[in-house]
Amino acid sequence: MTNVVKNMEDIAGKTLEMVVIGSGPAGLTAAIYAARADLAPLVLEGPEPGGQLTTTTDVENFPGYPEGVTGPQMMDDLRKQATRFGADCRWGTVTNVDFSKRPFRITIDEKTEIFAQSVVVSTGASAKWMGLESEQRLRGKGVSACATCDGAFFREEHVAIVGGGDTAMEEALFLAKFAKKVTIIHRRDELRASKIMQKRALDHPKIDVLWDSVIEEVLGDQVVEGIRVKNVKKGETSEIKDITGVFLAIGHQPNTGLFKDVLDMDKEGYLITKPGSTYTNIPGVFACGDVQDKTYRQAVTAAGTGCMAAIDAERWLSEQE
Ligand code: NDP
Repeated sequence: MTNVVKNMEDIAGKTLEMVVIGSGPAGLTAAIYAARADLAPLVLEGPEPGGQLTTTTDVENFPGYPEGVTGPQMMDDLRKQATRFGADCRWGTVTNVDFSKRPFRITIDEKTEIFAQSVVVSTGASAKWMGLESEQRLRGKGVSACATCDGAFFREEHVAIVGGGDTAMEEALFLAKFAKKVTIIHRRDELRASKIMQKRALDHPKIDVLWDSVIEEVLGDQVVEGIRVKNVKKGETSEIKDITGVFLAIGHQPNTGLFKDVLDMDKEGYLITKPGSTYTNIPGVFACGDVQDKTYRQAVTAAGTGCMAAIDAERWLSEQE
């Protein structure tokens, strides 16, 4: 990964034209556009520089990479591109914001205060995980929280998908295009997904369901070599040894804790933007990427809304002058 500056002393107390909070494809694309518009954006990279893509292996569906690219490489390229035009990318986490008056006050790592005329929020969302040690150890080695990203690597293999919601059904159907067999593992005896999605998944010849079941352990040392599941009603455990991929579809959590009671959000915590734009309820604060998108959640759509945020911010800033 490209080195990012960690020190914040030289910017303490300063007022910047634009601060981008978060460094996934949305934030870095906003930074590329803003930097090219001479706004010299500061990108505060957050606790997971590069965002969710740094936890995936190959990205094969981002336009412009015919041979594919690894997630970390793509994020490194995006950062280099932003830096080339004058974006200042720093490894810091925003711990407080005061959007009550302009310039907006931003606290970094609980100590450095800076001010911003405009803010782009691109803090993303985090996949929910089951909380197993083996799941974390084998992340990117057969365990994934994104079937759309990684499903095609499991051609003619047996994969499991955990969850009973619409995402699990949709991703099971997606996985069934490649896999030999897809087993949905659901903790209850009825699905949460919409009836139509349930029917599509349950009718599919390659998809079966393990009801009332939870994964106790993902087996394997270097790669996934099976799972141990427990039937929560009967208390029995069993191993399925031919499973090579485990996909999590147990929901996502938008990273919006920082903006509670400040920015408008829906009941699940996703930021609400004015339709067709990246405007939030606070003039001068824009939101892009997964933090405001629970539907598409793709690198390319995040990058697209990042571009929109930079253009919205640039126009808004010029209207203020
Ligand atoms: P949901 O919250 O709807 O479903 C999550 C599923 O994961 C539930 O079945 C839940 O089980 C299960 N789950 C949660 N935590 C755990 C855990 N720790 N261990 C095991 N299982 C767990 O999330 P989705 O991502 O599926 O959907 C989010 C929203 O997006 C929904 O409103 C959905 O309708 C929408 N959506 C719509 C689509 C469409 O219309 N095409 C496609 C995808 C999503 P339990 O049921 O027991 O709570």
